[in-house]
Amino acid sequence: MTSDDTTQVSVLGLGAMGSALADALVKAGYATTVWNRSPGKADGLVAQGAKAAATPGDAVRSGPLVIACLLDHASVREVLDPLSGDLAGRTLVNVTTTSPAQSRELAAWAARAGIAYLDGGIMAVPEMIGRPGASILYSGSADVFHQHKPLLDRWGASTYFGEDAGLASLYDLALLAGMYVMFAGFMHGAAMVAPAGVTASEFAAKAAPWLTAMTSAFQEYAEVIDGGDYTVAGQQSLRFSNLGDLLAASSDQGISTEVVDMVQRLIQRQIDAGHGEEGFARIIESIRQPG
Ligand code: NDP
Repeated sequence: MTSDDTTQVSVLGLGAMGSALADALVKAGYATTVWNRSPGKADGLVAQGAKAAATPGDAVRSGPLVIACLLDHASVREVLDPLSGDLAGRTLVNVTTTSPAQSRELAAWAARAGIAYLDGGIMAVPEMIGRPGASILYSGSADVFHQHKPLLDRWGASTYFGEDAGLASLYDLALLAGMYVMFAGFMHGAAMVAPAGVTASEFAAKAAPWLTAMTSAFQEYAEVIDGGDYTVAGQQSLRFSNLGDLLAASSDQGISTEVVDMVQRLIQRQIDAGHGEEGFARIIESIRQPG
């Protein structure tokens, strides 16, 4: 059985993201009940046809499917703990950002209370919800995912990772880790060229296509990592990847070398361990085994 636009759904939390999720459901024709701690945030959705609940309990009791999009793990527990009896026999999809351990804790709490639980990690900003490019990662109950996939797909591309409720969050945070380090790399480059009179916007115009082209290397590195052989021919060696020139140029520009130092340290640990002629992908071993 799959859900369709006759599904009754309740959304708890009408911040920027919860409002976007509820808006997409209302527009898709789902009978949607909404609740928010502070008053006023439901007005626009009610004008479009949503029903506002006075309390989270009223929202939970109004249908079989509850979506939680609150601030963090603590706020989810604060709102839902007193409602475990009402949630029993219902389905909870929690798309609030939580750590993998927190997701697993919620899943265990839900299992004890007889609540079907699916955890979600949103890879989108509110403006992207319901548009191409939005992606939401899920883990937890496979039954919930498959039953409600048509509804979940209204928000963006839905991917399911498995019964371990922490997996979606793990992927979410791993992808964000890559994003933040990439952004730091961009900022470093922008700071480097700034003393030469180059604006950050001018640099961004060059950096975006360059970094986009470089992402094609992910799959090549991944094959080496998964194969476990960093000596495969054709790889750029760690010794060749020495970032000394890059560090010197950064210092000459009078800027911090912290961002590049971090990468250089990962490289150097492998060279020091005798792997200088092996491929650059080997720096993952420095990350796997903290120095
Ligand atoms: P907002 O800060 O805009 O909204 C937070 C929501 O949580 C509000 O509805 C707020 O209610 C509610 N809330 C906070 N604390 C409590 C509490 N103790 N009890 C009840 N309700 C509470 O955040 P977003 O909507 O942007 O984000 C919601 C979740 O979505 C977060 O976990 C975030 O990490 C995740 N997310 C957000 C993205 C984004 O770009 N915005 C991207 C990806 C994930 P009130 O209005 O009363 O303050």
